[in-house]
Amino acid sequence: MKLVLLGAPGAGKGTQAVFLKDKHGLAHISTGDILRQNLKDGTELGLEAKKYMDAGELVPDELVMKMMEGKLASLPKEQGFMLDGFPRTVRQAEFLAGITDIDGVIMFKVSDDDIVKRLMNRAVCRSCGAITTWDNDKCPSCGGELYRRADDNEETIRSRLKVFHEQTEALIEYYRAKKLLLEVDATGMPEEIFARVLELLES
Ligand code: AMP
Repeated sequence: MKLVLLGAPGAGKGTQAVFLKDKHGLAHISTGDILRQNLKDGTELGLEAKKYMDAGELVPDELVMKMMEGKLASLPKEQGFMLDGFPRTVRQAEFLAGITDIDGVIMFKVSDDDIVKRLMNRAVCRSCGAITTWDNDKCPSCGGELYRRADDNEETIRSRLKVFHEQTEALIEYYRAKKLLLEVDATGMPEEIFARVLELLES
């Protein structure tokens, strides 16, 4: 199965990807994670991407498409995957269509107000990468130290939401027209949302 996870930043794509990975053995490919790893490793791509990421803007299509082409080519032929955070523009979606076929696109629907609240309360584990909240003082999965992502501040969250509405939301119609869109109500507890996702995938 080859899926695209679509939704605003903080809609829960990453959290649901972990559930799906455990249940269906799909590879989880997050463009944001790959870019942050490049930043950490001090690669040319990471240094170039930093200014856009810090401002909550999209990294230029050319850079992200090249990065994803390499990543997808490195997967074993039969390996199913979920793309988390890619595509984010119609150009990226057209590029993706040229290199592989997608079986479905799950759109996680949450209001902007909920997104801001969620992202302001999002904590990430430094050891295992689990996504949790500041209601915990350490990672509930492994006990590791928690940190706040550099772009999880109110100003950058607002920019990221604006970018989502202006550049990424068009993908909803793009994929609906291709009859690939599966919309899920992404409010509530992660487990409840996952139950809805499974129901959608089975239907
Ligand atoms: P995320 O972890 O998905 O919220 O992504 C964090 C940041 O990485 C975004 O705000 C963008 O600056 C950049 N980014 C991630 N995926 C893409 C993409 N497909 N196209 C352009 N920029 C991206």
